[in-house]
Amino acid sequence: MRMLEVLIVGGGVMGAATAYALARRGRRVLLLEQFAIGHARGSSHGLSRQIGCAYPQLYYTRLAKAAYQAWADLEADTGQRLVIKTGALALGAADLRYLRACASNLAAAGVPFESLSAPELRARFPQLAISDQTIGLYQPDGGILPASRCVATFIEQARRYGAAIASGVRVERVMPDGSGARVDASGATYRAQRVIITAGSYTPLLLRSLSLSFPLLITREQSAFFLPRDRRLGNLPVISDFGDDETNPPLICFPDLGEGVKAERLGVGTLVRNPYEPPPLPDPVENDQIARRLNQTLPGYAARLLRAETCRMTHTPDGDFLIDRHPEFGQIVIAIPCIGHGFKLAPLIGEMLADLAIDGSTACDITPFRLNRMLNRQVYT
Ligand SMILES: Cc1cc2nc3c(=O)[nH]c(=O)nc-3n(C[C@H](O)[C@H](O)[C@H](O)COP(=O)(O)OP(=O)(O)OC[C@H]3O[C@@H](n4cnc5c(N)ncnc54)[C@H](O)[C@@H]3O)c2cc1C
Repeated sequence: MRMLEVLIVGGGVMGAATAYALARRGRRVLLLEQFAIGHARGSSHGLSRQIGCAYPQLYYTRLAKAAYQAWADLEADTGQRLVIKTGALALGAADLRYLRACASNLAAAGVPFESLSAPELRARFPQLAISDQTIGLYQPDGGILPASRCVATFIEQARRYGAAIASGVRVERVMPDGSGARVDASGATYRAQRVIITAGSYTPLLLRSLSLSFPLLITREQSAFFLPRDRRLGNLPVISDFGDDETNPPLICFPDLGEGVKAERLGVGTLVRNPYEPPPLPDPVENDQIARRLNQTLPGYAARLLRAETCRMTHTPDGDFLIDRHPEFGQIVIAIPCIGHGFKLAPLIGEMLADLAIDGSTACDITPFRLNRMLNRQVYT
């Protein structure tokens, strides 16, 4: 059996970006995906993900700023436009500490942005309902990544640089084997010097054979698309509205790119106990709730529900990513950046994972993402 250099488990955006990073460096890489590339039973499918740098943690703001260059490099390499700059607006009156922390981090990282008062917000965005207490942070470079197209681009480009991509192959087990690893998948056995696990919500099943166990919560989140009442009103930024009342779930709303205004409520996902259970149809009650919440931010803006889709999130106990080598078997690298904001960082995370697999370390600071913090952790924050 031929020894592979690097085997990647999972062809969502993280696995695809990692295959691209490795193949571009001339590494021999095989990516195994259990379903078809672009399927809807993970976290990376769909029309849009937000890109922007407003975070209450400076390390994410810095990473997001660096990610813009990584996307620009991919765009230059492929001739495709992937970052659609619509501007991004974060709004709120309930948790001003959160927005002030974001503002201070944007300033510290040197990201261009404006702080807007309630009267300034009303003048600039008359479509929005703005209470007197509301403040806004506007990042002109914020925007949208066409999610499924980004994954397809990484895969296509990885192939062009020589990566082998196999879909419909389910990895059952990853096991350390000398200085490399053995991978059992759909009746075949592979050996590789390095294995990278980017398996999203399916990761806990693979960690069992690696004697790793820590609590991960998997939720199903729903997005709904609405026909705007008047398409001429479409010139909006991506809006994250934290609202006036902390008991009301925040809303994220994407401008119409031709398929309607996309909206989702944050923090209301339903628990997924078994990642292999067939995804249920989108919940009509949640569609109504999204419509109601959207109407609070943009009164009368949405005319009619067009469609809805669901997507998985994988939550670590402290809400930070996990990106690290296995504590005992350093030839195995694990990444769980599938909390609700990882997509924008995918090209950087792909480089980090490639560094960790090939060099054993990365120049990016992954201190907040280390695996050790997760062991013996039971409590969700
Ligand atoms: C509703 C929602 C909104 C979001 N909004 C944003 C946003 O606005 N901005 C942002 O930056 N991020 C956002 N995110 C987060 C972002 O989408 C995720 O961080 C990212 O998609 C995670 O990608 P992944 O490759 O880690 O996981 P996945 O996309 O789930 O990929 C994992 C892949 O591994 C495969 N796999 C698993 N097990 C096996 C196995 N045993 N054998 C073979 N293959 C296997 C799976 O089939 C899957 O294709 C959002 C996420 C959700 C759910």
